[in-house]
Amino acid sequence: MDRDRLTVVVAAYNEADSLPLLQPRIAAVLDGMAVGQGVDSQVLYIDDGSSDATWAVLQELAAADRCIALLRLSRNFGKELALTAGLDRIEAGAALILDADGQDPPELIPQFVAKWREGYDDVHGTRLEREGEGWLKRTTAHAFYRVIGRLSKTPIPADTGDFRLLSPRALAGLQQLRERHRFMKGLFGWVGYNRVAVPYHREPRAAGRSKFNFWRLWNLALEGITSFTTAPLRLATYLGLLTALVAFGYGLWVIVKALIWSDPVAGWPTMMAVILFLGGVQLIALGVIGEYLGRLYDESKQRPLYLVDSWQPAAGVSSTRT
Ligand code: UDP
Ligand code: MG
Repeated sequence: MDRDRLTVVVAAYNEADSLPLLQPRIAAVLDGMAVGQGVDSQVLYIDDGSSDATWAVLQELAAADRCIALLRLSRNFGKELALTAGLDRIEAGAALILDADGQDPPELIPQFVAKWREGYDDVHGTRLEREGEGWLKRTTAHAFYRVIGRLSKTPIPADTGDFRLLSPRALAGLQQLRERHRFMKGLFGWVGYNRVAVPYHREPRAAGRSKFNFWRLWNLALEGITSFTTAPLRLATYLGLLTALVAFGYGLWVIVKALIWSDPVAGWPTMMAVILFLGGVQLIALGVIGEYLGRLYDESKQRPLYLVDSWQPAAGVSSTRT
């Protein structure tokens, strides 16, 4: 029987403290799978322009293990692009995406692989609960998944991170999507094929701190909504229609009032209220258009998605470890 190939992809940004804890866990799992499930695996770490010792730590790890490949980007491009850079490097077999901080347990990888063998193309981990995350992050994340689930025509499963396995054909599909504003959860959904969720308990971070503060998450949410639905544009249209309707009605009333009672000049407060209200609605609609226009501008520049600083392919796979 042909042996299956699997590449574990880990994007790391300032994770010098977490990586030495994570790599032994991954290695143990991959060694077990090489024997038990007949899978040849490698680990691909992407240093997303870290400013701490991450790259040095990674090189130490790679020196001790032939199955580790390293990719370093020229600067910090963000998790979505770091993952893209990693996935682009995979030439054969399936990909498994894992967070560097140990929040996605590598011990579940054999379960993901088993689903892949059953014929699933996109096996994604769904969080049962979020430990070590505050109330605000939990409620806003919940709200976000509900909103985008409603608005987007592409299916985006709720409470699903990037912890997932992509079959070779799903990976090939994803590699064809070259848009610059990348909302990965949506892109995975766009690819389609057979999908299945694996529920898991998301552990708290092993070391270091989260790179996603509230502002970054807000921007990610905007990215998700603008990349996968034009509903806000539609909303602006309806808001405009509604306001116009009310404005016409009120204008008619003002004229009639003047004709019948020959209204003297008055009503500075109403005039101010109307001007401010209409101005506000117009600015909101302009802002919505601006969000889409800005993204269009970015796409039209046709820049490469990321630049690579250095690339070290792995020397071997898990079953040939010496
Ligand atoms: N990450 C990255 N580039 C960035 C920010 C984060 O590669 O600019 C990686 C990070 O090292 C980690 C993963 O993305 O492996 C998830 O980040 P984090 O744990 O900070 O996010 P959270 O789990 O809090 O959502
Ligand atoms: Mg994390």
